[in-house]
Amino acid sequence: MSTIDDLTARIRYVLVRTSHPGNIGSAARAIRTMGFERLELVTPARFPDREASALAAGADNVLANAGVHNDLIGSLAGSSLALGLSARRRGVNLPEISPREAAQQALAAAARGEQVALVFGNERTGLENEELARCHAMVRIPSVDDFSSLNLSQAVQVMAYELRVAMLGDAPAPTPPVHGEPPADAARMEQFYVHLAQTLDEIEFHKGREPTTIMLRLRKLFQRAQPDERELRVLHGILADAQRMAGLAKSK
Ligand code: SAH
Repeated sequence: MSTIDDLTARIRYVLVRTSHPGNIGSAARAIRTMGFERLELVTPARFPDREASALAAGADNVLANAGVHNDLIGSLAGSSLALGLSARRRGVNLPEISPREAAQQALAAAARGEQVALVFGNERTGLENEELARCHAMVRIPSVDDFSSLNLSQAVQVMAYELRVAMLGDAPAPTPPVHGEPPADAARMEQFYVHLAQTLDEIEFHKGREPTTIMLRLRKLFQRAQPDERELRVLHGILADAQRMAGLAKSK
């Protein structure tokens, strides 16, 4: 069985012909937050660079250990699966997959002990067809057609996030109730709605209108809030006081 550390060590992020060193720094930070360390740079315009270090915001080891290569092939050494990220559908004959599918494929390969590369293109021109041809599949983040291109480091973040989620497993961690107590059960809620309806009657809230619609709206509101027993007691208290005041007003 591979541990998360084994898996992350087998996954590298390759940035091809990056123009802006700031994007290299931001990408280093993006992968580091998701537990990854391996960054490979293919002919970056400027690296190392102060801007890269500034935007790495402490992910210094990722930058310090980044490999710098003369060509894409060099950066892919040892890897058996390369997935190329591209905003545009290209004229290349590659299967197009989503970041989520890419994460599943990458993890499956890493779990078999293989090394995987996620390949990102230049800010302006993206990945050339020739570069995509070195990849096994094209990954497209499903952005809108008329503004499809994400900032490079944000595309890296999306992919790293999907990989992280896939590694942590699909089962969501059980979430404890926000306020400690579980929400009141259906029977208690019904009691409350009866009390609420009575009170609205007694304070003459409806003024001759049919109460059905407003009661349904109020139900929806309280269903969303999911009050617990203690909160229901407060609400019952408020209603009881309103009923008492309405009684006093009537007796005058
Ligand atoms: N005009 C370029 C955009 C480059 S953005 C193009 O059409 O490809 C820089 C890099 O970020 C891209 O090469 C790609 O690797 C990644 N990227 C940006 N938006 C993306 C998207 N919607 N899906 C997948 N990758 C994307």
